Amino acid sequence: MHRYLLLCAGLLAGCLSVQAQQTPKRPKNVILLIGDGMGVNQVYAAQIANKGPLHLNRFPYLGLSTTHPVKDFITDSGAGGTALSTGVKTKNGAVAVDSANRPQVTLAELAKKRKLSTGIVTTCDITDATPADFYAHQASRSQHEAIAEQMVNADLDVVIGGGMRYFFQRKDGKNLLEDFKKKGYTVADTSQDFTAATGKKLVAFNAGMNPIKVKEGRGPILRQEVEKALSILSENKNGFFLMAEGSQIDWAGHANDMEYMVTETLDFDKAVGAALDFAEKNGETLVIVTADHETGGLSLTGGDWRNGVVEGKFIWMNHSANPVPVFAYGPGSEIFRGIFPNVEVNKKIQQAWWGETILSRK
Ligand code: MG
Ligand code: ZN
Repeated sequence: MHRYLLLCAGLLAGCLSVQAQQTPKRPKNVILLIGDGMGVNQVYAAQIANKGPLHLNRFPYLGLSTTHPVKDFITDSGAGGTALSTGVKTKNGAVAVDSANRPQVTLAELAKKRKLSTGIVTTCDITDATPADFYAHQASRSQHEAIAEQMVNADLDVVIGGGMRYFFQRKDGKNLLEDFKKKGYTVADTSQDFTAATGKKLVAFNAGMNPIKVKEGRGPILRQEVEKALSILSENKNGFFLMAEGSQIDWAGHANDMEYMVTETLDFDKAVGAALDFAEKNGETLVIVTADHETGGLSLTGGDWRNGVVEGKFIWMNHSANPVPVFAYGPGSEIFRGIFPNVEVNKKIQQAWWGETILSRK
């Protein structure tokens, strides 16, 4: 009996030590996926519509993030994204600056300093608040042309999104697409160019302005763009940081449109699947999925999970203060548990990645 117990204990210890050797303590790469406006009920609605588990169901660790900005009760995407990108709470409308408009260093900038590659992918204008929060610094998110100019100087390795007009149809007459080319980027503005693009630096536009909705035929481009970004970024042996956003979950919430919301959440989930597939193979990648805030105050009021019908009611056309989920997978993911403020998502990423938290002005 004793010998049997000892044998079991020995085998268990053996298993654990093998596992400990295989799983690195710290990730080399971080993929942060932001479902803009994606609360818990948006996720469950998509799961019902899917008639089964989502890629979001593959995550081992889950936390809840509270999202208020520095003073107000409800956040916008500028302040919500700034909390995630810099670990600093700020005023609504801000883009990676604090409430006194002082630029704050972002995860992408910190990664760059450490010689990692960086990428930003989105299903809205690439100069919109959520993506801009990771590479630009502005007191107001409405400064699209200034944000575009800051993107040229941000030295990102991969940028994919809409809003091409802010780069060459500008009030100041500048053609920033030429600046990108001079800096060695491949600039792709058609899906053929995008697919064919090779090289280490890529700027790809999927629309002159915001891309169309999934329910109007956008296709699974977010997943394809995440896969493309990962193939380029993972060439850097030091590691990489990628932020990918499902932007239009938020717009569907503003429109109080369930079908729009569900199709955008399912589209975002496909991109989450691409990130998880990469991370599972790679073994050195932390994947975090969260939202900057919930939109619409959605409640689920009826439906049938057997045939994928889901009904919901939105309380209004604005954001809400409802806490949002934080999903975590990979080395360091076990610290993303509990209820914490949105700035902690940033700090936990840094802690998991580098074992320290750097919050500093640029
Ligand atoms: Mg957004
Ligand atoms: Zn919104």
